[in-house]
Amino acid sequence: MKIVVIDDSPDALALAKARLARESVDILCANGGKAGLEVVNRETPDLILLDVDMPDISGFDVCRILKNDPDLHTIPVIFLSGSGGPQDKVRGLDLGAVDFVTKPFDAFELRARVRAALRTKRLQDLLGLHAQLDPLTELYNRRAMTKRLEREWERLQRRGGTLSFAMADVDHFKQVNDNFGHSAGDRVLQQVAQTLIAQCRQVDLPVRYGGEEFAIIVPDETAESTRNLLERCRESIADTPINTGHDEIRITVSFGVADSTGRPSTDAIIEAADQALYRAKQGGRNRVELAQHPEPAPI
Ligand code: GH3
Ligand code: MG
Ligand code: MG
Repeated sequence: MKIVVIDDSPDALALAKARLARESVDILCANGGKAGLEVVNRETPDLILLDVDMPDISGFDVCRILKNDPDLHTIPVIFLSGSGGPQDKVRGLDLGAVDFVTKPFDAFELRARVRAALRTKRLQDLLGLHAQLDPLTELYNRRAMTKRLEREWERLQRRGGTLSFAMADVDHFKQVNDNFGHSAGDRVLQQVAQTLIAQCRQVDLPVRYGGEEFAIIVPDETAESTRNLLERCRESIADTPINTGHDEIRITVSFGVADSTGRPSTDAIIEAADQALYRAKQGGRNRVELAQHPEPAPI
């Protein structure tokens, strides 16, 4: 795990670093509030030790900035201050810090407090991860997809570019459950998930959208160029019988895909991919359909 120590005094930085040397963590030092914010943005550490009195930006202000940043607000902050009256402690904790240690600190106590904060951070990270995972397939879930799509969408607004969004739905899946049992159905969903993972690039995000529906966020690709990926997924699933222990099941999947070009919102691209998927079903299933390009807005 990684700790950033922010202090305007080089001596204080060296001391904190020396006191924490025996903990198995990476320690980065930042000289002052501004440098501290830069290092934290770059490194997203697991814990921040923050001095209060700093000439450029005070520790309280640094903490306020961090707690208002959606990417950084979960990083725990421990204030390390020479002037720790009760009022300062209350203020620091109310700003969202997890702890407040007064200097000169006892090395053993500081290390114990750091370990406690890191233990909680580890648990918090684990809970955060589980909240985003689908337990059956171990793919990311719809919640994670929504978050990622919104982030990618903001990036497109800022920098331009394109992304694709694909929806996939297992064909006649109800029959799998009815004919082979629910646990065979579960096994099928796991196998579909594995195929999507195997075919996707590292930057793509395959997710379980819900039930027997999956989705894939494909950055930097058009719907047309995503067709190849989806055809590979489709063929691989159709060609590979799934062994449930009792039976070998053959299934197919239908896909619909839309890209961001000319679409006003994440809801619009999801809706377009869903309509394309509907056409894939109507057209006989086991196929990939591209969304129609949106009508250009009237001038
Ligand atoms: P279509 O080709 O039109 O998509 O038909 P379908 O049978 O796949 O679609 P339908 O929506 O009628 O049925 C989906 C089924 O998926 C019904 C539901 O019980 C089942 N299902 C949803 N989630 C799970 C799951 O986690 N495990 C299993 N085994 N079945 C699930
Ligand atoms: Mg369905
Ligand atoms: Mg289905």
